[in-house]
Amino acid sequence: MTKQVWFLTGSQGLYGPEVLEQVREQSSRISSALDAAAAIPVQIKAMPTLTDASAIRRVMLDANADDNCVGVIAWMHTFSPAKMWIGGLDALRKPFLHLHTQVNVDLPWASIDMDFMNLNQAAHGDREFAFIATRLGVARKTVAGHVSDPRVLERVGTWARAALARAELATLKLVRFGDNMRNVAVTEGDKVEAERRFGVSVNTYGVNDLTAVVDQIGEDEISALVTEYLDSYQVAAELLPGAERHDSLRYGARIEAALRHFVVEGGYGAFTTNFEDLGGLRQLPGLAVQRLMADGIGFGGEGDWKTAVLGRVLKTMAAGLPGGTSFMEDYTYHLEPGNELILGAHMLEVCPSIAVATPKLEIHPLGIGGREDPVRLVFDAAPGEAVTLGMCDLGDRFRLVANEITVVPALAEMPKLPVARAVWAPKPDFTTSVECWLTAGGPHHTVLSTALNAAHLTDLAEMLGTELALIGTGTTTAQFGKELRWNNAYHRLALGF
Ligand code: MN
Repeated sequence: MTKQVWFLTGSQGLYGPEVLEQVREQSSRISSALDAAAAIPVQIKAMPTLTDASAIRRVMLDANADDNCVGVIAWMHTFSPAKMWIGGLDALRKPFLHLHTQVNVDLPWASIDMDFMNLNQAAHGDREFAFIATRLGVARKTVAGHVSDPRVLERVGTWARAALARAELATLKLVRFGDNMRNVAVTEGDKVEAERRFGVSVNTYGVNDLTAVVDQIGEDEISALVTEYLDSYQVAAELLPGAERHDSLRYGARIEAALRHFVVEGGYGAFTTNFEDLGGLRQLPGLAVQRLMADGIGFGGEGDWKTAVLGRVLKTMAAGLPGGTSFMEDYTYHLEPGNELILGAHMLEVCPSIAVATPKLEIHPLGIGGREDPVRLVFDAAPGEAVTLGMCDLGDRFRLVANEITVVPALAEMPKLPVARAVWAPKPDFTTSVECWLTAGGPHHTVLSTALNAAHLTDLAEMLGTELALIGTGTTTAQFGKELRWNNAYHRLALGF
């Protein structure tokens, strides 16, 4: 069922039925324009005009209770005395957008009279409303402008995508196969606090619970996947049916089938693996992880559940947009002065949704993990504007760290690097980006998305009540350091006692 955002129009009984009928009709034009906008990926459901406190409170409680409702938009077409909104706004637990608009684009200079003035009062009706929202401390996004303006639709759409992601996060289940990599700090975190703040449930299974499923997969299921691989990728000659290493490809398919049964059919939207804890698995899962990510599942390596959560969340937020979203790790640098670049990759697990061309399916040795050679997809990431996002647990709270980046073509072929990779230039420049990232304590694992931008991440962080340290155009090291200090104070105070 298509997720909904409820559209609430505020007014009051004083206007009488004739004006309220005009309000209803004109409000439905606004909500229909939002509903029809391609930039807004939810259904906009128009609710009856609100004219008293009990109806306002009731609709907010209903919005809270309706799992299909991911957020609420409010607009005061006329003047809606805002003490009527106290109970409702205080009760609201869904993401909230205040749309400040009006029906007409042009002021009707020649015909304007007091009837028009009586009906079209959003300019002060929304000020009365915004005052009470601020007075109550209601978190919200405010968007001002006419709904025929693409920028308005885009900003509402960005918020709606964040609301969809938040709704997904609120019921997300994540499965970890094994714990996180021994002695690693940043992949640790408070799973109880994550469930309280975000809703996501993070639980661990022994990797041999997965191996048991791997061992039960039938040959027909494996053959069907191999056929899909042959149709989808440039498969290396040594992996083809009848060739010397075809059995390794079939074992990769066996892992994929098992992960699909365990993770997807188990209702999990994200998972982690750990190369230090592979139990009876004969290969580190590479191809299988890449293909599950391509289907929208979040993933983190080395037991990194926080990045796996972000993977699922950003994939939900990006659904239907051009571009891709992948697990990523800052690996190594090109430090040519003035043209510094970051090479990102992982041992194997980069999502083909960011690939520039048809991936190659290959097999190569992997020094780490101590198992048989794993099959994997090899490709370059498509150039374009992108963001990276990571999350760390500072002990008293979570911090999101993000960077605006430009994915660029590699400066030369990398024939001896048989893994999927991305090359990017971070904003505002290499030195500022990396120094800010390190100062913020940002993790080495991230999610890279060429489908999303800083506005999506900002809206999401606001909805989650979680700090976002954003590094991008206009960032300076000095200002960023101050922001982190101010954020420390604000977020500690916001936690309360
Ligand atoms: Mn890693």
